[in-house]
Amino acid sequence: KVLRVAIMGLGSYGTRVAKAMEDSNRAKLVGLISGTPSKVEAWKEKYSIPDKNCYNYDNFDAIKDNPDIDAVYVITPNALHKEQAIRVAQAGKHVICEKPMAINAAEAKEMVEACDKAGVKLLIGYRMHFEANTLKVVNMRKTGEFGTIKFFQGLSGFMIGDPTQWRLNPTLSGGGAMMDIGIYSINGARYMTGEEPIWVTAQEVKTDPVKFKEGIDETITFQMGFPSGVIASCLSTYSMNNLDKFFLNGTKGFAEMQPSTGYGPIKGRTNQGPLDEPHIMHQTVQMDQMAGIIFDGVEPEIPVDGREGLKDMVIIDAIFKAVKTGEKVLLV
Ligand code: NAD
Repeated sequence: KVLRVAIMGLGSYGTRVAKAMEDSNRAKLVGLISGTPSKVEAWKEKYSIPDKNCYNYDNFDAIKDNPDIDAVYVITPNALHKEQAIRVAQAGKHVICEKPMAINAAEAKEMVEACDKAGVKLLIGYRMHFEANTLKVVNMRKTGEFGTIKFFQGLSGFMIGDPTQWRLNPTLSGGGAMMDIGIYSINGARYMTGEEPIWVTAQEVKTDPVKFKEGIDETITFQMGFPSGVIASCLSTYSMNNLDKFFLNGTKGFAEMQPSTGYGPIKGRTNQGPLDEPHIMHQTVQMDQMAGIIFDGVEPEIPVDGREGLKDMVIIDAIFKAVKTGEKVLLV
């Protein structure tokens, strides 16, 4: 069965997801939700989408009466996700929502509850959870190839450009680099170690307070402690390019990945040799797999549901609190 998807937010990542679905066996772009009529016209033509499957941000609740759409993929600025995802759920459609799923844990929890109540799935766009080299490392860790895990390092960053973009507007982004790219190190620390953190500490550096105004973090280093004694040391930044590296170390071996979360190919090696699983466009694999989750009840190796997204939001809240107070924040 093919998952019939409407994309909400025809921006740069929406464009990538649409392209990825061209090669998906199980997901197809069939609908559009946008506030820009000229984009709708162009996309309609490109993807042969009928008028009856096109909506704007005012009228998309009517999607509930459209039997030809199964799911809506929310790919808008972070602060809009909560309200939009809840409206989609209330219209009875499955929700796929981009990361960060919301701008704090309270919002994320509301989304999880609304989707549960509506009886629809809530899946977060964690494309790395389906990436072959990532899954290989996670499986090696599970089978004990690295021995007892002791340490994870995650470095996530890029140089942000245009100072007027929504990513640098706290009302739309809910935060700076942490929400956007640092979340990969948080999420990665969890799936690479297989544990949930019990404390965080964090420190912020701001070199340009004009560009990175109040509420927009430029660079944050953070540390997480895990129940077994594993520690993670991570960096999130909007001021360094080519920063995309994971390192996992255990008593018997290691894995290093660089790039570790970019669009790929993901590259790296372990103590046993190179990581060279074939590259397939991440979003194509993700959409194929998400169709399986929604229609066939497939349980992915690394979860991508709303509760998984909520865990990252709880950690982000704690990191911001740790930055503000200078104190260690306990998560349990
Ligand atoms: P973008 O600016 O390119 O696109 C955002 C879209 O939202 C635009 O089409 C814009 O018109 C629309 N929009 C609707 N209401 C808006 C409003 N009030 N203000 C501004 N824009 C509005 O951004 P993007 O890079 O496509 O990011 C969108 C989401 O996707 C973000 O949550 C981001 O974190 C996520 N993302 C995920 C990945 C990934 O690899 N999973 C990669 C990039 C972006």
